[in-house]
Amino acid sequence: MSNAPEVFTSQDLTGVGEIFRKLNPPARLAVFGDPIAHSASPPMHNAALRERNHQLQYVRIRVTQDELPQALRNLTSAGFLGASLTIPHKQAALSFMDQLSREAQLMGAINTVAVRDGKLFGFNTDGPGLSAAIHESFGIPLKKHRVLILGGAGGAGRAITVQCALEGSPSVIITNRNKEKGDLLSQEIQEYLDFPISSIPMTTESLGLAMKSVDLIINATPLGMKAGDPSPLPEGLLTKDHLVYDTVYSGGETALLKQARSAGARCAGGFSMLLHQGALQNALWFGETAPLETMRKVLNDLRR
Ligand code: NAP
Repeated sequence: MSNAPEVFTSQDLTGVGEIFRKLNPPARLAVFGDPIAHSASPPMHNAALRERNHQLQYVRIRVTQDELPQALRNLTSAGFLGASLTIPHKQAALSFMDQLSREAQLMGAINTVAVRDGKLFGFNTDGPGLSAAIHESFGIPLKKHRVLILGGAGGAGRAITVQCALEGSPSVIITNRNKEKGDLLSQEIQEYLDFPISSIPMTTESLGLAMKSVDLIINATPLGMKAGDPSPLPEGLLTKDHLVYDTVYSGGETALLKQARSAGARCAGGFSMLLHQGALQNALWFGETAPLETMRKVLNDLRR
């Protein structure tokens, strides 16, 4: 990869995207977000592109909320194959797609755009990526777990909640700081998927009760991203029989993972979800299985 700056702007996408065509190899995939400089997606995806001998590269583009509609329209004229979307675009981008996958509709968000015959197709690989990560981390598929999702009605939380419902996990409890949002999501899922799910307040008492009837706890709040963040789960509720998955993948070991370790519970952090959602994106763009181990190695190296 040569002559690519760390971050491009959405203005670079205007016209035929001259600046991207002149890169060696040309950029035809990107991640849109704001902020975006921290994204680990370019090294992960570029390693996969090199491994498969695709003569193109994946870049970071800073796209603000106001710029999103035009930036999405410009993907086609600039000759892009697609894009990944991250904060704050996953929900807003939905209405600019020509077609959406069923999962994306239910999850109310997309993290992947594929340009096909000049049209924009929206997908969500966060839910399936989490599912693959759970199976890989604990050796038991998501559909076998009784799940508690902390922050279950946030962006990633909603994708995970819908994924559990689609796979038919035996029971799903969501808890959300804003309980009304959790209640609304649980009603929607019961209505559209006819799946039993409950929404509980994020209090020590309710969580204490819930912990007795679940085996897998998933954190989908951002607590843990910053050093010194508290755990989203009150102390003393985890036992050695619980499994804990924290979707957070930055900021070192989170307070939740520390709690799990000291309770003797098996646990894993969010790198494997990042890996699998990325591998599924790659498969959507190229119609082939992604080189998972190459992508994993890049993420592991970044972590060190
Ligand atoms: P989001 O849409 O802003 O949702 C955040 C959720 O966390 C909401 O449910 C929110 O509750 C809750 N929350 C925020 N601050 C809280 C606090 N102090 N105490 C309790 N709950 C709190 O964010 P997102 O995009 O879903 O991201 C959430 C996390 O998922 C991030 O850590 C992100 O890194 C992670 N993630 C990981 C991957 C991966 O590949 N590993 C992929 C996607 C996301 P309210 O609804 O009440 O505001």
